[in-house]
Amino acid sequence: MKFCPQCGKPLQEAHIDGRERKLCPDPECSYVFWNNPIPVTAAVVEWDGGVVLVRSKGWPRRFFGIVAGFLEAGETPEEGILREVYEELGLRGRIVDFLGHYAFAEKNQTITAFHVRAEGVMVPGDEIAEVKVLPPEKVKPWDAGTGPAVKEFLRRRMGGKAVDRCVPPGEQLVLAVYVQDVEKSCRFFTDFGFLVSRRDGPFVELRWEDSLLFLVERPDAEAPKAPVGNIRVMVPDVEAVYQKARELGYPIVTPLGDRYYGLKDFVVAGPDGIHLRFASHLGRK
Ligand SMILES: [Zn+2]
Repeated sequence: MKFCPQCGKPLQEAHIDGRERKLCPDPECSYVFWNNPIPVTAAVVEWDGGVVLVRSKGWPRRFFGIVAGFLEAGETPEEGILREVYEELGLRGRIVDFLGHYAFAEKNQTITAFHVRAEGVMVPGDEIAEVKVLPPEKVKPWDAGTGPAVKEFLRRRMGGKAVDRCVPPGEQLVLAVYVQDVEKSCRFFTDFGFLVSRRDGPFVELRWEDSLLFLVERPDAEAPKAPVGNIRVMVPDVEAVYQKARELGYPIVTPLGDRYYGLKDFVVAGPDGIHLRFASHLGRK
């Protein structure tokens, strides 16, 4: 900006509020060009299993970015980005996550970025020259502008990947119980419907649907003086399991009842201080 937008006089350099700014020299006017950044809303859009990259009309051929745009008056960044996703891609999206705020000094913008998931048939808008949908691992984030938001999206995704992809969910956390008599313990659990999926000397692998429980017979295992804990098992009909526990004659530690935490449950004592707590959701069968 060279001329005062209020009176038309040439602006001059001045040191105001700790920065070099442009000031109108007319004392009657004294307009200051503050050069405040413009808010931009942006999104890493996931669609059809990939990340959507767009090239706007007029951009160089190899230049792709994420969906982004200026806010309309009265819009929140959340409203703005869902509108942009619709305008640029013809897709209805929903915000999954907030990724971050980023200062983009070169363009004097402040970018608010989200992770958006979109579904449906993509119909790119008039402003869009080209769309690419890349598998997330093929996306190479750039340094400036919306690049750091892309980096943040990938960082979170990789974090999640390490947890959910290395092994099936049911194998991620498995309790191994040291028992005095593996046959006796095994009988207790199988009486209640656990299946033996592996047996190897002192070791037994038990399975309840996708969850695992290990029993390990150890000569130094002692009967604990007090119960050590219980394993909670959700069942569709806890009353039927309760009847079975009574018929089998296992000691009931906590009789069947409705609980404040939304479950109907009971606790039956097992060997080695490990109890089983069977539960159903209240109001559901
Ligand atoms: Zn002026």
